[in-house]
Amino acid sequence: MPETPPAPPPFDRIAIVGLGLIGSSIARAARRYGLAREIVAVDADAAVRERVRELAIADAVTGDLAEGARGTDLVVLCVPVGAMGPVAEAMAPHLKPGAVVSDVGSVKGSVVAAIQSHLPEGVHLVPGHPIAGTEYSGPDAGFSTLFAGRWCILTPPEGTPDAAAARVRALWEGMGALVETMSPEHHDLVLAITSHVPHLIAYNIVGTAADLEAVTQSEVIKFSASGFRDFTRIAASDPTMWRDIFLNNRDAVLEMLGRFNEDLAALAKAVRWGDGDALHAMFTRTRAIRRSIVALGQDTAAPDFGRPRPAEDEAKA
Ligand code: NAP
Repeated sequence: MPETPPAPPPFDRIAIVGLGLIGSSIARAARRYGLAREIVAVDADAAVRERVRELAIADAVTGDLAEGARGTDLVVLCVPVGAMGPVAEAMAPHLKPGAVVSDVGSVKGSVVAAIQSHLPEGVHLVPGHPIAGTEYSGPDAGFSTLFAGRWCILTPPEGTPDAAAARVRALWEGMGALVETMSPEHHDLVLAITSHVPHLIAYNIVGTAADLEAVTQSEVIKFSASGFRDFTRIAASDPTMWRDIFLNNRDAVLEMLGRFNEDLAALAKAVRWGDGDALHAMFTRTRAIRRSIVALGQDTAAPDFGRPRPAEDEAKA
């Protein structure tokens, strides 16, 4: 019986710009799952380029944005949010008609505005944001299964041809992600409460502990209970990436922070007045949310006391 020939890769040539955690994970996954005939890695940093060559996770490596753009079907911008506009501007004149530009930035409204104005007629923008990551950065931090079972949100601006959005969806689904589409504005509101404000709280609580005078820093580190220690993991996230997120999602973050402050004041009042019923009711509600996250497969119920999980380490192939 004749064998079915393997399906051709959905993309001929993909250029990934910024080979950090996310960019290098896309390079690894695109190769592992056969999603492109040629993967071009573009990074401004010579040391990153050298490391990408050593890791052999791309077919070509360059620091030249024009070279990365030429003849490319899909460009995925994986640089910090504040660098998206200038990088798109430098690549735009070299993109071929029909090319698709995407990104992985954690903020969408300002990124769409920063990229779209530079793109020539016939080049389509399909922004994306994988809800996956770790607190590590750089090309060594990536792994091919980072997106498996995780959501990726696409925010194609009005007028984007369906075919262009479908190709970007195929890339993410090919890497094992679940894809949902929404407006950039809605994305920014949702992520403000699920990701951006939690990071701000983590940065703040770790900063407060570091500034305490009555409790020494060595005591904070030595006796860090799981609550504080989990915050330190989040607060170890890349400073450039997070600076750019707060500079670019200001309104949604301030809106959610306002609500957070009101709710925190109510909790403080319950503590002050010894209102155990209010505290218990709140903690019961929040526990149910944690359980639904586990039930949806977005985390495991395994206790995490900072120990490495062998299955996860194996997945980092
Ligand atoms: P990363 O590991 O720090 O990698 C960023 C890469 O971009 C690095 O190679 C960096 O080079 C390069 N870069 C920085 N500034 C640049 C510029 N002006 N021009 C060209 N290249 C530049 O960061 P990441 O975690 O992969 O994040 C990349 C993007 O993914 C960000 O937009 C972030 O919002 C988004 N994202 C991150 C996560 C996460 O959990 N980390 C999750 C979802 C989405 P250098 O080494 O020279 O700095």
